[in-house]
Amino acid sequence: MPRYDFRCRSCGATFELRRTMAQANDPAVCPQGHEDTVKLLSAVAVTGGASGGAAQQAPSGGGGGGCCGGGCCG
Ligand SMILES: [Zn+2]
Repeated sequence: MPRYDFRCRSCGATFELRRTMAQANDPAVCPQGHEDTVKLLSAVAVTGGASGGAAQQAPSGGGGGGCCGGGCCG
């Protein structure tokens, strides 16, 4: 079961939940009971941040970007 990181906007805590992909977009409640939380992207999905380091090897398969423009990401 994948893990998802969430951050509470009320108290700033980050926490992790294991839930099915079907539940991935369900609201998560902070361990302290706050409901104003946001889902964070997993580290895997975070690529090519700012201050571009010289990543010499691009991942094979697929061009750069374009995924979230075509609706495949929901
Ligand atoms: Zn909280």
